[in-house]
Amino acid sequence: MPDVNAFSIDVEDYFQVAALAPSVPRDSWNTREARVERNTDLLLSLLAERDIQATFFVLGWTAERHPGLVRRIAAAGHEIASHGFSHKLIYTQSPAEFREETARSKGLLEDLSGQPVIGYRAASFSITRRSLWALDVLIDIGFRYDSSIFPIRHDRYGIPDAAHEPGRIAAPSGRTLVEFPMSAASFCGVTIPVSGGGYFRLLPYWLTRAGLKQINEKHRRPYVFYLHPWEVDPAQPRIRVGMLSRFRHYTNLDRCEPRLKRLLGDFAFAPMANVLNRLGLAV
Ligand SMILES: [Zn+2]
Repeated sequence: MPDVNAFSIDVEDYFQVAALAPSVPRDSWNTREARVERNTDLLLSLLAERDIQATFFVLGWTAERHPGLVRRIAAAGHEIASHGFSHKLIYTQSPAEFREETARSKGLLEDLSGQPVIGYRAASFSITRRSLWALDVLIDIGFRYDSSIFPIRHDRYGIPDAAHEPGRIAAPSGRTLVEFPMSAASFCGVTIPVSGGGYFRLLPYWLTRAGLKQINEKHRRPYVFYLHPWEVDPAQPRIRVGMLSRFRHYTNLDRCEPRLKRLLGDFAFAPMANVLNRLGLAV
């Protein structure tokens, strides 16, 4: 049974979230109040209290404007990984556009952190059946692992029949890359995403805990948790969006921090690269 699970943060601001994109023109990003530093610093302090190291998938756009934040995360001993540059969904980009922006984000994060960047997570888990070509691009530009595939059904992402277990997966060229899929558990035959993010805020804590234990104890696999810095910020400026997006983005923001403290006390976590190495996947 795995004795340690992976903890990850997708470092971006509240106005960059895919669910809010229809109400937030990209060219307005620069004019909005930035809250990513204070929110990420809060997460860094919660992790430091428990002496836990994690993987931070940093958006290139954010790294460019907050270079000191990337340096602080790296100096605290965490793994720096890439969340792309623009936060555009992969299946809306051309392979050439994806290659250019992803390489740019990798180079920038390596310069700022002084560490090799080997892990990648797509905006809104947007590596799906129609964007598997992205895996070849990731291999070409030197990534060793990806954590973008969600083995569930969702309106914006997911490959429902994808493997739940971390392992090597084949890109369309036949070459392979290590994939750490997002965690889902099965209750009464229903697949429930228990990986974190909105699910962590919307579902009761006991369900995340039960899902995590099922993945560890029944399937003998490590679990991966993810969160965004804005999810511990109930005071963030409210953006007018449709009902579904409002529900997904704003529900239980005030409950997230105490719930997170519980999770960090209940289980052992490490950066994704460490967990993959312990599995013998030698990233
Ligand atoms: Zn994101």
